[in-house]
Formats: sequence, structure tokens, C-alpha cells
Amino acid sequence: MAVLDHISSQEAMALENKYGAQNYHPLPVVLSRGEGVYVWDVEGKKYYDFLSAYSSLNQGHCHPKIVKALTEQAQRLTLTSRAFYNDMLGKYEKFATEFFGFDKLLPINSGAEAVETALKVCRKWAYEVKGIDLNEAQIVVCKNNFHGRTTTIISFSNDPVARKNFGPYTQGFIKIEYDNLEALEETLETNPNVAGFLVEPIQGEAGVYVPSEGYLAKAKALCEKYNVLFIADEVQTGIARTGRLLASCGNCDCPDKNCSGTPEVKPDILVLGKALSGGVYPVSAVLASNEIMNVIRPGNHGSTFGGNPIAAAVAIAALEVIRDEKLSENAEYLGKLFRAELNTYISKSKLVELVRGKGLLNAIVINDDEDSDTAWNICLRLRDNGLLAKPTHGNIIRFAPPLVMTEEQLLECVSIIIKTLKEFE
Ligand SMILES: *Cc1c(COP(=O)(O)O)cnc(C)c1O
Repeated sequence: MAVLDHISSQEAMALENKYGAQNYHPLPVVLSRGEGVYVWDVEGKKYYDFLSAYSSLNQGHCHPKIVKALTEQAQRLTLTSRAFYNDMLGKYEKFATEFFGFDKLLPINSGAEAVETALKVCRKWAYEVKGIDLNEAQIVVCKNNFHGRTTTIISFSNDPVARKNFGPYTQGFIKIEYDNLEALEETLETNPNVAGFLVEPIQGEAGVYVPSEGYLAKAKALCEKYNVLFIADEVQTGIARTGRLLASCGNCDCPDKNCSGTPEVKPDILVLGKALSGGVYPVSAVLASNEIMNVIRPGNHGSTFGGNPIAAAVAIAALEVIRDEKLSENAEYLGKLFRAELNTYISKSKLVELVRGKGLLNAIVINDDEDSDTAWNICLRLRDNGLLAKPTHGNIIRFAPPLVMTEEQLLECVSIIIKTLKEFE
């Protein structure tokens, strides 16, 4: 079969089911084209994408500027490995560190790899700068976290499906309640070997849990008090998704003039992925100060594809789009509108308990058990009505459209969502 031979949805799904490892349970829809906020299935039906590949497509599908950067670079130089310098990586590192207000960037590919990198940097800093005894360093993490799928990362997950039968697990992690400053303080006070605190500014996979006002700033202050690195995993929340450049930022010198929310914190280590490439190419990064990043020396860490010239060109273009199209501002404005519109409906609804989120990272909670299939059935009906979303749990649906959406499009989506929910009341 030639690669571009047309196949039906049924045929495409049958191929994946027969020849692919069954590590996902996709919504039954087969997409073959995307543009901006829209995707089309192989039969030509058009949908609003209300997931954005888990917040990777903040800039919209196939953004022409990002695709141009990709194709031009792909025809010039794709990969050198870091055995040699290339003429794009330094440009990108300068651009991105200035963009986010950090000294240094370590380029890597996937979100999980970037989290792994941050953990390694933090541990090495613990031994070489903080002076913790060898192999005694602990990193504090939060319950219901999602940081990726590697063996170390699932070692400190509490999702049984992600963990079971993948042991033995990596040591050196202490799990505490999310959004609980007392638990954090007690842990830091009683454990002199804590090197870092790894946290999602909003817990996305867990169901878009937004912590209390001021939580991040106070957690950062506690970390400073105990000389512990504050590591923000902004793989999902970063790059304008929550209505500002970073969900954790506020006081940083980043060029996001829209940092209007409560000043939060500048992390010691910032972890980015997903929308760093606008969903065009796997690009992730770890950013930190010179003092922290300088613990990494030649040979300590690396990746064949990390920092390749395509990734560099694509990431510069993707960040320029965020800035030039004012996507933080748009996410902030549309997010408020989205929650207000849904709240009007929810006040009269028996089915939906609440909507929560920041910017265009939102979720609704359905009045049903966590292991029910109501959210899945609603997502199937949303699909029939022309909008694609996915449950994070049996009773929670995440709504994260591309940030290039217009107000008119958002209101059309709201009416599709409300019409669909009414069919389940
Ligand atoms: C998606 C995600 C990751 C993992 O990214 P991959 O590219 O899938 O490895 C890590 N942390 C958070 C918060 C994420 O949402």
C-alpha cells in the first residue's frame, strides 16, 4: 500500500489495532488534516480540536510560519548531533533564554526527557553545590502528579495503571499532597536531604486542578528558606496556555507584557515541552541559572536529537507566533468568557458540577463516579456534534482548544458543548 493511498476510518483503526501496541485508547475518529482550530477526518468531516494534543498545538494546527521554518530548515540541515556545533542551536538558546528570562537552556526532545533532565540537574546540584551526602538526595513531588512515562517518573506516580508491574522503582522521592503548604513545610523541615520540589503549576492530567491563590509563591518561599530548588513542570501549562506565558511566572523579565495576574514565582528550574514547537516537532527544554546549569559538564547528559537544527528553527518560530499573535492575552480573554458561559449553564444543570481552569486550560466535572463512562460517552457525542475532547477521568473532561481561536469560534464551541450536555441531562 502506498503511504498516501486513501483509507477509510474503519480501515485505519483496524490497522492500528492489529499492528500497533495497544498503549492508548483513542476516541474513534481518524484525522487526516488540520488547520488552525480545525481538524478533518478521512471522510472529510470537520471538527473543532478541543484538546490540542494535550496543549501542544497552542499556535493551532499547521501554523504557516512554523511549518515554513520546519520545511526550510529540513532542506538545509536536519541533524548534526552535538558531536559538532550547528548554526541554529546557539541562536535558539539565546532567543529562548531571553524570552523566558533564564541564563541557560538544555535542549532535549520529549516532555518526559526534560523532566528526567531536571531531576538529574537537581540531584547533581544537591551533591556539588548544596553538599548533601552522596546518594541521599530526595526530591519532593505531589500526589496525582503527571510528569511523563519513563521508569523514574512512574516510580513517583500514584496512578496504578501507569505503575503496576513496571518495578523495581527508582528511589529518592517523597510524595506530599498537592496544594498543601503545611505538608511541604513539614517535609522540608524534617528532611535535610531534600534537593528539589517538583510541581505542576496546575495539575493537568489529574483533571485541571488549580491550586489556591498564592500557593506557588508560598511554596517557592519555603524552598528558598530550606535551600531547595523549585522545579516547575510547565510542559502542559506553559507557553501562553493559561493566559500568560508561564502559569508560574509573574516577576520574571520575560517579554510577556500580559503578565497581569497575581505575581507568582520564577522557578529555579523550568521544564518546557509540548507547545514549545507548536505541535510540529518534538522539542523540549530545561532552563535554569548559570549556577545551577553549570553542574552539567561534557558527557554528563545528552541526546542524539536534542538541540538539532530543525528543533531550534521550529521552536524560535513557535515562540515568535506566541508573542506576535498575543496568544497569552487571547487565552486569558477567551478563558474567562468560556467559564462564564459554561457557569451560566451549570447553574441550572444536574449533570455538570463545575468548570475550573485558567486561560484556555479548563475542565468540567460531571456529577458521576470517577470510574463511570459518562465522560467518555459525552466525548463520543461531542465528536458527532463536531468537537473533539477527551476525558482525563471517568467524570472529568478537559477543554484545551488552540489559542488562535476567535471569540466567534469559541461561542460556537460553547453552544456545541452545551447542546451536547443537554442531551445527557
Ligand atoms: C505531557 C506532559 C509530560 C510528558 O511529556 P511527553 O512529551 O509526553 O513525554 C510531562 N509533564 C506534563 C505536565 C505533561 O503534561
